[in-house]
Amino acid sequence: MSTPLLIDTHCHLDESSFEHDVATVIESATTAGVVSMLTIGTTRESSERAVALAEQYESVFAAVGIQPNYVAEAKAGDWERIVELAAHPRVLAVGETGLDKYWDHAPLELQADYFDRHLELSQAIGKPFIVHNREADAEVVEQLRRHGKQGSLRGVMHSFCADQKTADTCLELDMYMSFAGMATFKRNDELRNIAGKIPADRILVETDSPYLSPHPMRGKRNEPARVALTAQVIADVREISIEEFSKQTTANARRLFGFPG
Ligand SMILES: [Zn+2]
Repeated sequence: MSTPLLIDTHCHLDESSFEHDVATVIESATTAGVVSMLTIGTTRESSERAVALAEQYESVFAAVGIQPNYVAEAKAGDWERIVELAAHPRVLAVGETGLDKYWDHAPLELQADYFDRHLELSQAIGKPFIVHNREADAEVVEQLRRHGKQGSLRGVMHSFCADQKTADTCLELDMYMSFAGMATFKRNDELRNIAGKIPADRILVETDSPYLSPHPMRGKRNEPARVALTAQVIADVREISIEEFSKQTTANARRLFGFPG
């Protein structure tokens, strides 16, 4: 039996915890059947590092943006640099962007302003966007809805962990839904059930490495190779084989982001 081919649609390979062994981490992902990875920038500097990794490794592509928790620290010229980097051919998406009411690192209005900028940039350059939503379901949906009126939305709710109602609304807005290691945690039956019901042409998987390591590796540094653990759990609730589920999610990732293959 051949290894199912997966795409990790969200990881942070530029984080300092990968500093000493990123080449090995990428290699073990490839061995585990991860054909492509999207490494996500969270600041200007992080986005620059993401692009550099995408230039260096064939299976790595980048997304550039300023994550909501970092918008208050953005300096003059940072946003302009993101706009510039977004045009790079190895950059497949804009983000991550969105709203975070959990950490409270930046005023919500400033987060909303940057969310708008990312959505507009995505539309202007024809590359999809990646949404980070932490305890801001209503506000995120409202802002997406507003943008949806100006044309169809092309984006993903990354590491989805809200409720069924929010999932339904996001699907109505044409969003893709991506699930990370949280869907494998023992107590998260509700999230697993939501993942089980996402239409087959709208579901994605990711690791959000180095965070959110899936069961049974919970608490350890996560890496892209472990996307298979999450995919297996979701394939099980969907009552399909990992091969079939991988085929679907990989096709979806290619359709949304334009990964080669
Ligand atoms: Zn992330």
